[in-house]
Amino acid sequence: MSKYDRVYNFSAGPSMLPVPVLEKARDELLNYHGTGESVMEMSHRSAEYQEIIDRAEADLRDLLKIPDNYKVLFLQGGGTLQFSMVPMNLLRKSKKADYIITGNWAKKAYEEATKFGDIRIAATSEPDHYSYIPKCGRDDFREDADYVYICYNNTIYGSHFNYIPDTGDIPLVADMSSSFLSEEVDVSKFGLIYAGAQKNVAPAGVTIVIVREDLLGFADEKTPIYLDYATHAKKGSMYNTPPCFTIYMAGLVFQYLKSIGGVKAIHEIDVKKAGKLYDYLDSTDFYRTGIEPEDRSLMNVTFVTGNPELDAKFVAEAKEQGMINLKGHRSVGGIRASIFNAMPPEGVDKLIEFMKQFEAKNR
Ligand SMILES: *Cc1c(COP(=O)(O)O)cnc(C)c1O
Repeated sequence: MSKYDRVYNFSAGPSMLPVPVLEKARDELLNYHGTGESVMEMSHRSAEYQEIIDRAEADLRDLLKIPDNYKVLFLQGGGTLQFSMVPMNLLRKSKKADYIITGNWAKKAYEEATKFGDIRIAATSEPDHYSYIPKCGRDDFREDADYVYICYNNTIYGSHFNYIPDTGDIPLVADMSSSFLSEEVDVSKFGLIYAGAQKNVAPAGVTIVIVREDLLGFADEKTPIYLDYATHAKKGSMYNTPPCFTIYMAGLVFQYLKSIGGVKAIHEIDVKKAGKLYDYLDSTDFYRTGIEPEDRSLMNVTFVTGNPELDAKFVAEAKEQGMINLKGHRSVGGIRASIFNAMPPEGVDKLIEFMKQFEAKNR
């Protein structure tokens, strides 16, 4: 393999980045804009770095049309830390919150939240192996709940909310780690949105939090300072050293998305990519996907042959052909193709071609 031959990486994260972004980072690596240093070495208090983080935030605001009364925070600790930070900050009054459980990540978030307050499961599709997204509305939530929590795209199972639950005045919190920037969302319908970057935005190391200003400042006084959103909101995500290089990479991805027409444009590409794959899956009985068609994810496509040995053979043979990380999450097995924004359409075409051949040989 030559230095620039690249595989199609179907991992759920860390995942592929757009080649133009990697090339730009490479070109700027040794000497960023004439500073004589890389962004990795740069002081986060320098004017150059301030410009990088300011532009990243401005471009993200632009891409998602984030209203002015929302703060954008660049934090560390992954999606996992948000499982704790959300309840620590948003259990403001009744200390009650209602969770919709649609997969492992939502369940983990729920379990963590139970340490901090009166947390209730409003709905769950666990008894049905998370094969669908429950339909919930106002009547499903306690009137005095401090927030309602959902995982918008279920990375492990391959399902996705095709609606935004009506929570009335109760702030809605959404983990969008694996669908962030793959579709337009009306931010004003949410109290807080967060996304770990390594799925659809950047290398691992930064978590983006978009939070409505009026929800800040309620953390208990014993809350560790880093875990209070208000700390970061007041200091423009620079209370302490931020994950500088990862934020820079996220910023390059934002610039790239803007250059190709923004979230709407990438969404159209994503719809086509996933559509082709689901169309093929629906056309054969050799592979099965367990998710209700209306709740299917555009980002994570899960399927099985029905025979775990055959699934393993599929994953191994695909790897030989330059398509890596197709193994399903360790908790569910099977096959999972994560086809985030940066997966080229050719990668999906190649996968479908391989699936057809594999079917013909192993039927
Ligand atoms: C990957 C993932 C997480 C966990 O992210 P970490 O950054 O590894 O903590 C949480 N939620 C969703 C939806 C994910 O896909």
